[in-house]
Amino acid sequence: MLHDALILAGISGGIVYCVMVLIARRQAARLADAIAAEARFRSLTELSADWFWETDAEHRITWLSGGTPVATFFGNTPTYGKRFWELPRVEVEPRALAAHMERLDEQLPFFDLEIARTDERGARQIHIISGKARAGAAGRFHGYRGVGRDVTEQRSAERRLAEANLADIDGRKRAEAALRETEERYRSLVTVGEQRFRDLVEASGEYVWETDAQWRFTYLSERVEAVLGYSRTELLGKTPKDFMPLGEERVVEEWLAKNGGAGRPFRDMLHRSIHKSGAVVWQAVSGAPIFEGGRLMGYRGTAADLTARKQADARIEHLATRDALTGLPNRSLLAERAGQAILGAARSRARLALLSIDLDRFKLVNQTLGHGAGDALLRAVAERLQSALRREDTLARLGGDDFALLWNGLKSSEEAEQLAQRVLAILARPFGLEGRALHVGASIGIALYPGDGRDFAELLRNADAAMYHAKEGGRGTWRCYQPELGARAAGRLQVENELRSALARSELVLHWQPVVRGRGDIVGAEALVRWQHPVRGLLLPDEFVPLAEECGLIRAVGEWTLERALSQVGAWQRSLPGTPWFAVNVSAPELAQGDAYVEKIRNALKENDVDGSRIELEVTERALMSHLHENLETLRRIGELGVRLAIDDFGTGYSSLAYLRRLPIDKLKIDRLFLRSIDSNAADEAIVRTIASLARTLGLAVAAEGIEGGPQLERLLALGCEQWQGHYFSESLDAAGFEKLVTAGRLRNLPAANQTP
Ligand code: C2E
Ligand code: MG
Ligand code: MG
Repeated sequence: MLHDALILAGISGGIVYCVMVLIARRQAARLADAIAAEARFRSLTELSADWFWETDAEHRITWLSGGTPVATFFGNTPTYGKRFWELPRVEVEPRALAAHMERLDEQLPFFDLEIARTDERGARQIHIISGKARAGAAGRFHGYRGVGRDVTEQRSAERRLAEANLADIDGRKRAEAALRETEERYRSLVTVGEQRFRDLVEASGEYVWETDAQWRFTYLSERVEAVLGYSRTELLGKTPKDFMPLGEERVVEEWLAKNGGAGRPFRDMLHRSIHKSGAVVWQAVSGAPIFEGGRLMGYRGTAADLTARKQADARIEHLATRDALTGLPNRSLLAERAGQAILGAARSRARLALLSIDLDRFKLVNQTLGHGAGDALLRAVAERLQSALRREDTLARLGGDDFALLWNGLKSSEEAEQLAQRVLAILARPFGLEGRALHVGASIGIALYPGDGRDFAELLRNADAAMYHAKEGGRGTWRCYQPELGARAAGRLQVENELRSALARSELVLHWQPVVRGRGDIVGAEALVRWQHPVRGLLLPDEFVPLAEECGLIRAVGEWTLERALSQVGAWQRSLPGTPWFAVNVSAPELAQGDAYVEKIRNALKENDVDGSRIELEVTERALMSHLHENLETLRRIGELGVRLAIDDFGTGYSSLAYLRRLPIDKLKIDRLFLRSIDSNAADEAIVRTIASLARTLGLAVAAEGIEGGPQLERLLALGCEQWQGHYFSESLDAAGFEKLVTAGRLRNLPAANQTP
């Protein structure tokens, strides 16, 4: 007895266990189904005539299906995060809204809340929304989810009827007929809408269908026409089989038999139909039987156009492999194509070129004209390059302003260089953006397969190294990869480490270059930093300032310079009176510190008891333009300390001159470049003359640098530029040397100052 009972208990325990496992499995399967259906739903709603929405627990919109209905109703209004009735230009009748809020408070479903929107042109649209509370995994209220529908036409028919003159029998009849028609359509839409709404996740097909027990269509939603090409009336009374290609019926029957048989619900039955145009359409059909009093009355369900899904798949594929902004292949697609090209080239002993293309002035465009302009520029660059390429070449955007070009079937390395030349020429033409002509230019690095790399990663790395090399070489040019470049990169790292310890070991020194007026009156001096390297000797700023800027050490270098310069100036105030002012160079990252930088200057002035008016800060045109807006405020505050401001290397920037008026500056320093052959080159002379007269017009001082000979100086003075510095008078000197020069000048009572030195 007991034995039997134990066996029984064991068996029933086993059954319970099996059942539990089955339930768990089914739940997991259902969940997976629901997730898949949800994903499908989301992609298909984009194509649907109705629209769908979701809100959070505060009734703020968190999701709207894409597609035309939403776009035409809401226009460009940002909707997410807002409640429907809070959207601009949207009206809800106050009483309806009050009733609606009550339902929301109780988390009850609601139907057909009417919302109207009048667009910018005065056109009014009326939509109705219905919704149902949705719960999260823990059963907590998460907000609502529902459907929206355009009823503008329906409402206007109603209005026409109301307006129709009773005496005008014909008019009234017409209006009534119109209303009946829209009402009918409306009714069918309501069925569809409710169905969709009820089973939003599980049965969200492209169109909704109903049949009788013999599978003859008794109802179809309008969208069927978009899928099959036939109107609803053409389809009613026919069966799906009537539109299937030969042999498809068998496939469907077999599928149904395997998946539950007749009279059972089914999901995602894939089959082909023939579109009115003759094209094959793939559909995924789901449905369930309709019973009335136990009798099978027919079927109802949804059908999705898989052609669209296939397109969606293609689109996802596109998104995964394309750069969203320009539509160009992205890095992963480039890698794939390069991989294939390398395989092919290895087999046929062919060569390839990979070009790394980096725009030269892109950051500036972004910073001064905004990101919108930056994006537009990138698109324009992509378009222009793309249109100049062969089909078999791949132009990719790797991010930011980095592009790469994969060139197949290279005949010689000269061909790669010609290609780079061509790209440069294409990008050298100005881009028209927001009504202005922008000159961007690019730097290009070339790596060749097989010489410069055996796989894509190596080729790209080396093309990049060559590109950096090109940038250093003055931008707007191209360079081929050379193995030493890799070594250079390593070398840079070493310099960076050394620079760090140089700061700690105070290996930096300041040199001073006198600034003179006329033919030799010392009016000031510019502090120029040098690095007394233990092995390499005295290094000029060009050898470490750009590097310090790149690796973030420039602030430390700048801080050192400022303090060192001011303490020297403080000391000279006592020991070497007579030099009116001193100039200090400042870099973009220092300036970017804003208030903190202003404070540093204030403290350094105070600590050394130096008056602000004795200091001039030199900011290069490039640094100034890099964050013009923020810099403006910083410069203004520096100006409040009495410190004067000069734009260094003026003329090398690419900015319009219009901004000059807005800047709190005192001086323009014309770049060396223009003075080199000022005595022989008419263009340079014209530039210097223009800058000098511009400065006069704006009430600014003007100075020139790099005067190396008498004829240059004579030209300069004739053009109205009085202040200058250059080797013709003196190179930069260490502090002791500068002191000597000044004292000598004073001892000689500056007799030479008024003559040609
Ligand atoms: P800059 O401010 O335009 O300085 C003028 C440069 O021209 C100096 O080069 C100077 O030695 C050089 N120079 C002056 N007269 C002549 C001449 O007659 N012929 C030639 N060929 N060159 C002349 P340096 O000292 O090599 O400085 C180069 C640049 O490095 C400076 O250009 C400045 O932008 C930057 N720099 C120098 N010191 C500092 C510093 O302390 N901080 C920062 N941020 N940048 C600095
Ligand atoms: Mg300078
Ligand atoms: Mg300069």
